[in-house]
Amino acid sequence: MVTPPVGTAPTTAGTRIAVLGRGIVPADEPVLRADDLGVLHGDGLFETMHLRQGRPWLRDEHLARLATAATAVDLELPPVDALIDLLDSVRAGWPATMEGALRLVCTRGSEAGGRPTVYATVNQVPASSRAARRDGITVATLPLGMPADARTGLDWLPVGIKSTSYAVNSAARRWARRAGVDDVLWVSSDGYALEGPIANVVWLTGDTLCTVPAATTGILPGTTVAWLLAHADELGLNGSERMVTPAELHAADGVWFSSSVRGLAEVRMLDGVRREHCPRTAALHALLGFPVD
Ligand code: PLP
Repeated sequence: MVTPPVGTAPTTAGTRIAVLGRGIVPADEPVLRADDLGVLHGDGLFETMHLRQGRPWLRDEHLARLATAATAVDLELPPVDALIDLLDSVRAGWPATMEGALRLVCTRGSEAGGRPTVYATVNQVPASSRAARRDGITVATLPLGMPADARTGLDWLPVGIKSTSYAVNSAARRWARRAGVDDVLWVSSDGYALEGPIANVVWLTGDTLCTVPAATTGILPGTTVAWLLAHADELGLNGSERMVTPAELHAADGVWFSSSVRGLAEVRMLDGVRREHCPRTAALHALLGFPVD
C-alpha cells in the first residue's frame, strides 16, 4: 500500500486478499488448489460490494443474497460472523478516502471434498467504471434466446444467483467490445429487455423509476436497484417493477444501468440511437452516494 505524505489523500492502493482461516495473504500468493470446483466447474458464488469510507455499502443485503443463493445450490457457507470477520480483515487499512471494490468469493472447494474455499479481495474501482458513471455508456440489445419466464419455469434451475459461472456474461461483454459498445442489454425471445451481463436496467417514465422484476424473470435481484427504488421517494419519485420492451426504453425519460461498484451509468445511446442526457441523473448519483468525478 502506498503511504501518502501527511495531509494528502492517497490516490492508489494495492490489492488486498484475505482467506478464511488464514487472514491477509500477499496479493501474489496462490489461494486456490488446482482441483477447486470453483475453477473446474465455475461452481461457486460471489458478491461484489462498494467500499466507501472504508466500509462495504449494503453489506447485509449482499450477505443475505449470498445466503439465499447458497441454499439454492446446496453450498454450505461459513457462519455469517466468520464472513463479516473476513470482510473486516480484508478492508482494514484501506484508505477511507478511496472507494474500493470488495469481492467475496465462496466456491464448493476441492473436488476431493471438504470445506468451501472462501476468500475476499479489495481492489481500486476501475477507471472505466468511474468514467461510465461520469459520462454514461453506449448499449446494444442482444438476444438471450429464451422467453422472459423460461428460467423461472424450471424447478431444477437455481435462478437469480450470483454464480461464478460467468461464461455467458463474459461472452456478452466480449460481443459488446466487438460491436463497439460499452455494454449490452439482454432481450428475451418474446421481446422484453431483462438485464445486462453485469447490471440491472433502470428507467424513468414520468415520475416512476422502474426496473425489471427478478422473481418472474430469473434475472439477478440487484442490491443497488432495490435500494434505489426503495429510496426513490426522497427524490419525489415512485419505485416500480415492471416488464419493458426496447421500444418503451427508447421512449423513457431516462435509462441507466445499476450495479454495486460502477453505481449508476446513464445509457446515452441504445442500439445506435442517441439519448438526451436525463436531468435527474445527478440527483440519482447523489442519492446513491457514488462519487462522480
Ligand atoms: N445483473 C447481473 C447479471 C449482475 O452481474 C449484476 C452485478 O454484478 C447486477 C445485475 C447488479 O447487481 P448489484 O446491484 O447487486 O451489483
